[in-house]
Amino acid sequence: MKRSLFKLVLIVLAVGFTVTALAQNTRVKILATGGTIAGAGAAAERAAYTAGKLPIDELLNAVPQIHKLAKITGEQVASIGSQDMSIEVWLKLAKRINEIFAKNEADAIVITHGTDTQEETAYFLDLVVKYNKPVVLVGAMRPATAISADGPKNLLDAVVVAADPKSQGRGVMLAMNERVFDARSVTKTNSTSLETFLSTNFGPVGLIYDQKVQYYYNPVRKPGKDTPYDVSGLTSLPRVDIAYMYADADPTAIEAFVKAGAKGIVFTGVGNGNMNKKNYDAIKAATSKGVVVVRATRTPGGRVTLHDEVDDDALGTVVSDDLNAQKARILLMLALTKTSDKAKVQDMFFQY
Ligand code: ASP
Repeated sequence: MKRSLFKLVLIVLAVGFTVTALAQNTRVKILATGGTIAGAGAAAERAAYTAGKLPIDELLNAVPQIHKLAKITGEQVASIGSQDMSIEVWLKLAKRINEIFAKNEADAIVITHGTDTQEETAYFLDLVVKYNKPVVLVGAMRPATAISADGPKNLLDAVVVAADPKSQGRGVMLAMNERVFDARSVTKTNSTSLETFLSTNFGPVGLIYDQKVQYYYNPVRKPGKDTPYDVSGLTSLPRVDIAYMYADADPTAIEAFVKAGAKGIVFTGVGNGNMNKKNYDAIKAATSKGVVVVRATRTPGGRVTLHDEVDDDALGTVVSDDLNAQKARILLMLALTKTSDKAKVQDMFFQY
């Protein structure tokens, strides 16, 4: 009896040791783009700061614990506040990530990023990274120089998520404030609070605590290696703009976007993607000219449904389903690299 108990303890210890050793051998590449996580201010007690100041090496040195979790390497891709994120940087990031995985330079990737457009970068990468390996975005609401900066803990947590074998095949994710979100449904909901990222319809997919991640949901829309979108030969994306509905809204924005050469427009409607008569007429004129118009909603949750309050056949529109306007723009830009057929674009909005 005693002997078998001793054996069991030995097996448990060996398994524990192997799992830890495996995790420590996981190669995590950190791609830095800037943002508040790399932000520096003049005084620890003041909120004012400049985003994207600290280089990658200083960020990594600030969290020595990450080197116990995985084999870490870092690369500076950009040094910007994410309000300056651009299609050019997105394409650069996507190509580099696909190259890192193709050349087997890393097993997982963490991207440090400003929080303002983090959800957009996450969803763009979710649609164009052709591998099922973990890609995790992370940021901070307080600059690195602030009292109780949240960046170091968030970075540690992001590495925990990236290095965990359970994180494979879940699409691109975002780790902030001890929660893990899927790229498709996460959104920034508060301009200053640490608890800003939410998935308004579905909640986080996992929780991080004590350097461990636990998953509770598995998103079903995560193209990974099956993605139809290939940006390897692209240097730009078709122009898509966003217009916004409010009481008595004037349609000038839609007309101007069409004039400027937009191939697509996301219309952020009220309620179930609705609009007043003036905007209805401007949208109808746009779709008649072949511009693909997607109806989204300005409400923070729910979805936009086909043929309910608005007759999409008559108006020539596509619905965003549950994508918010900024993410609908990303899917529409990528969809337009393949087709401008309204029915095919609509299928993509129900599939990705
Ligand atoms: N403006 C900053 C950025 O998005 C805010 C942040 O990182 O939280 O880069």
